[in-house]
Amino acid sequence: MHILVIGGAGYIGSHVVKALLGHKMKVTVFDNLSTGTELNLFKEADFIKGDILNYDEILTAMKQNVDGIVLLAGKKAVGESMENPMKYALNNINGVINVLNAATEAGVKKVIFSSSASVYGTPQYYPLDEKHPENPMSFYGFTKLETERFLKWYDQLKGVKFVSLRYFNAVGYDEAGDVRGLEKNPQNLLPIVMEAAVGIRDKVNIFGNDYDTKDGTCIRDYIHVTDLATAHAQALEYLERGGQSQILNLGTSQGSSVLEMILKTEEVIGRKVPYEFAPRRAGDPAIVTAKADKAREVLGWKAEHSSLDNIIRSTWNLYKDLK
Ligand code: UDP
Repeated sequence: MHILVIGGAGYIGSHVVKALLGHKMKVTVFDNLSTGTELNLFKEADFIKGDILNYDEILTAMKQNVDGIVLLAGKKAVGESMENPMKYALNNINGVINVLNAATEAGVKKVIFSSSASVYGTPQYYPLDEKHPENPMSFYGFTKLETERFLKWYDQLKGVKFVSLRYFNAVGYDEAGDVRGLEKNPQNLLPIVMEAAVGIRDKVNIFGNDYDTKDGTCIRDYIHVTDLATAHAQALEYLERGGQSQILNLGTSQGSSVLEMILKTEEVIGRKVPYEFAPRRAGDPAIVTAKADKAREVLGWKAEHSSLDNIIRSTWNLYKDLK
């Protein structure tokens, strides 16, 4: 299978490329390098520099005998999406429509979509399964849910088969060190913890210590990016076998608190991580964990790299030399 990985130079995309190559697929990366980096490109994969907002560019790429696509390119900072929804409407809606229309025009009928747990909004129960009501609390989450709705229509009207993968908290780095690009200006917890450990920032602000959890800090389901990546390869193989469209959670069902993440990091790397308790961040639910049984049943997927030890060690490998 020849797979076009749209956004394949980014953090998750580069790990997906490695997984697809490992599953003997031919890979072409399509990326505008706005947040992705050439450091994340694999020599075994072709590279096209292009933008999903340019219909001709994405259509030309799609016409290179592509059998399926992985659609990752998109903006992903929840906070920013609330301040600048226009940017998210443009990239995550207009850009996605360009990709789906180009795929349809080129006759590409297999789509793996990078979705998010944020489509659920505040959990009514946990672990969250795919039947949980969808009520995004952020504009970012709304764009992910809208794309899933587009995909359902394109399935019904044009026979596009898709697997939408709802990621929980993506963390960690390739354990062999094959992905070297660090995210610029990270917004997520673990890279911020790492930056505090090396002294790039003076401390981690823990957003709230009065939640109804064991230590008062928020609990999330941290899933190693290599496990996420494997699911994309398995999802493509599933569609290749003639599987029907699916929406699947990807998580571990295990929750870790913010404080646990920091203390575990200190233990694994043998350094202090300065932190301070700060006010709650708007829109943060106390606990978000995934029920991922459906991904196991449909794809045979399971999280194998997602111990906190593995997650922290593989991330520290990249950060330890920074300062
Ligand atoms: N968090 C924190 N300090 C930070 C960044 C994040 O306390 O500087 C907390 C955040 O409130 C949440 C958890 O860490 O409970 C994970 O946040 P992240 O932004 O990584 O992912 P999210 O769960 O919001 O998608």
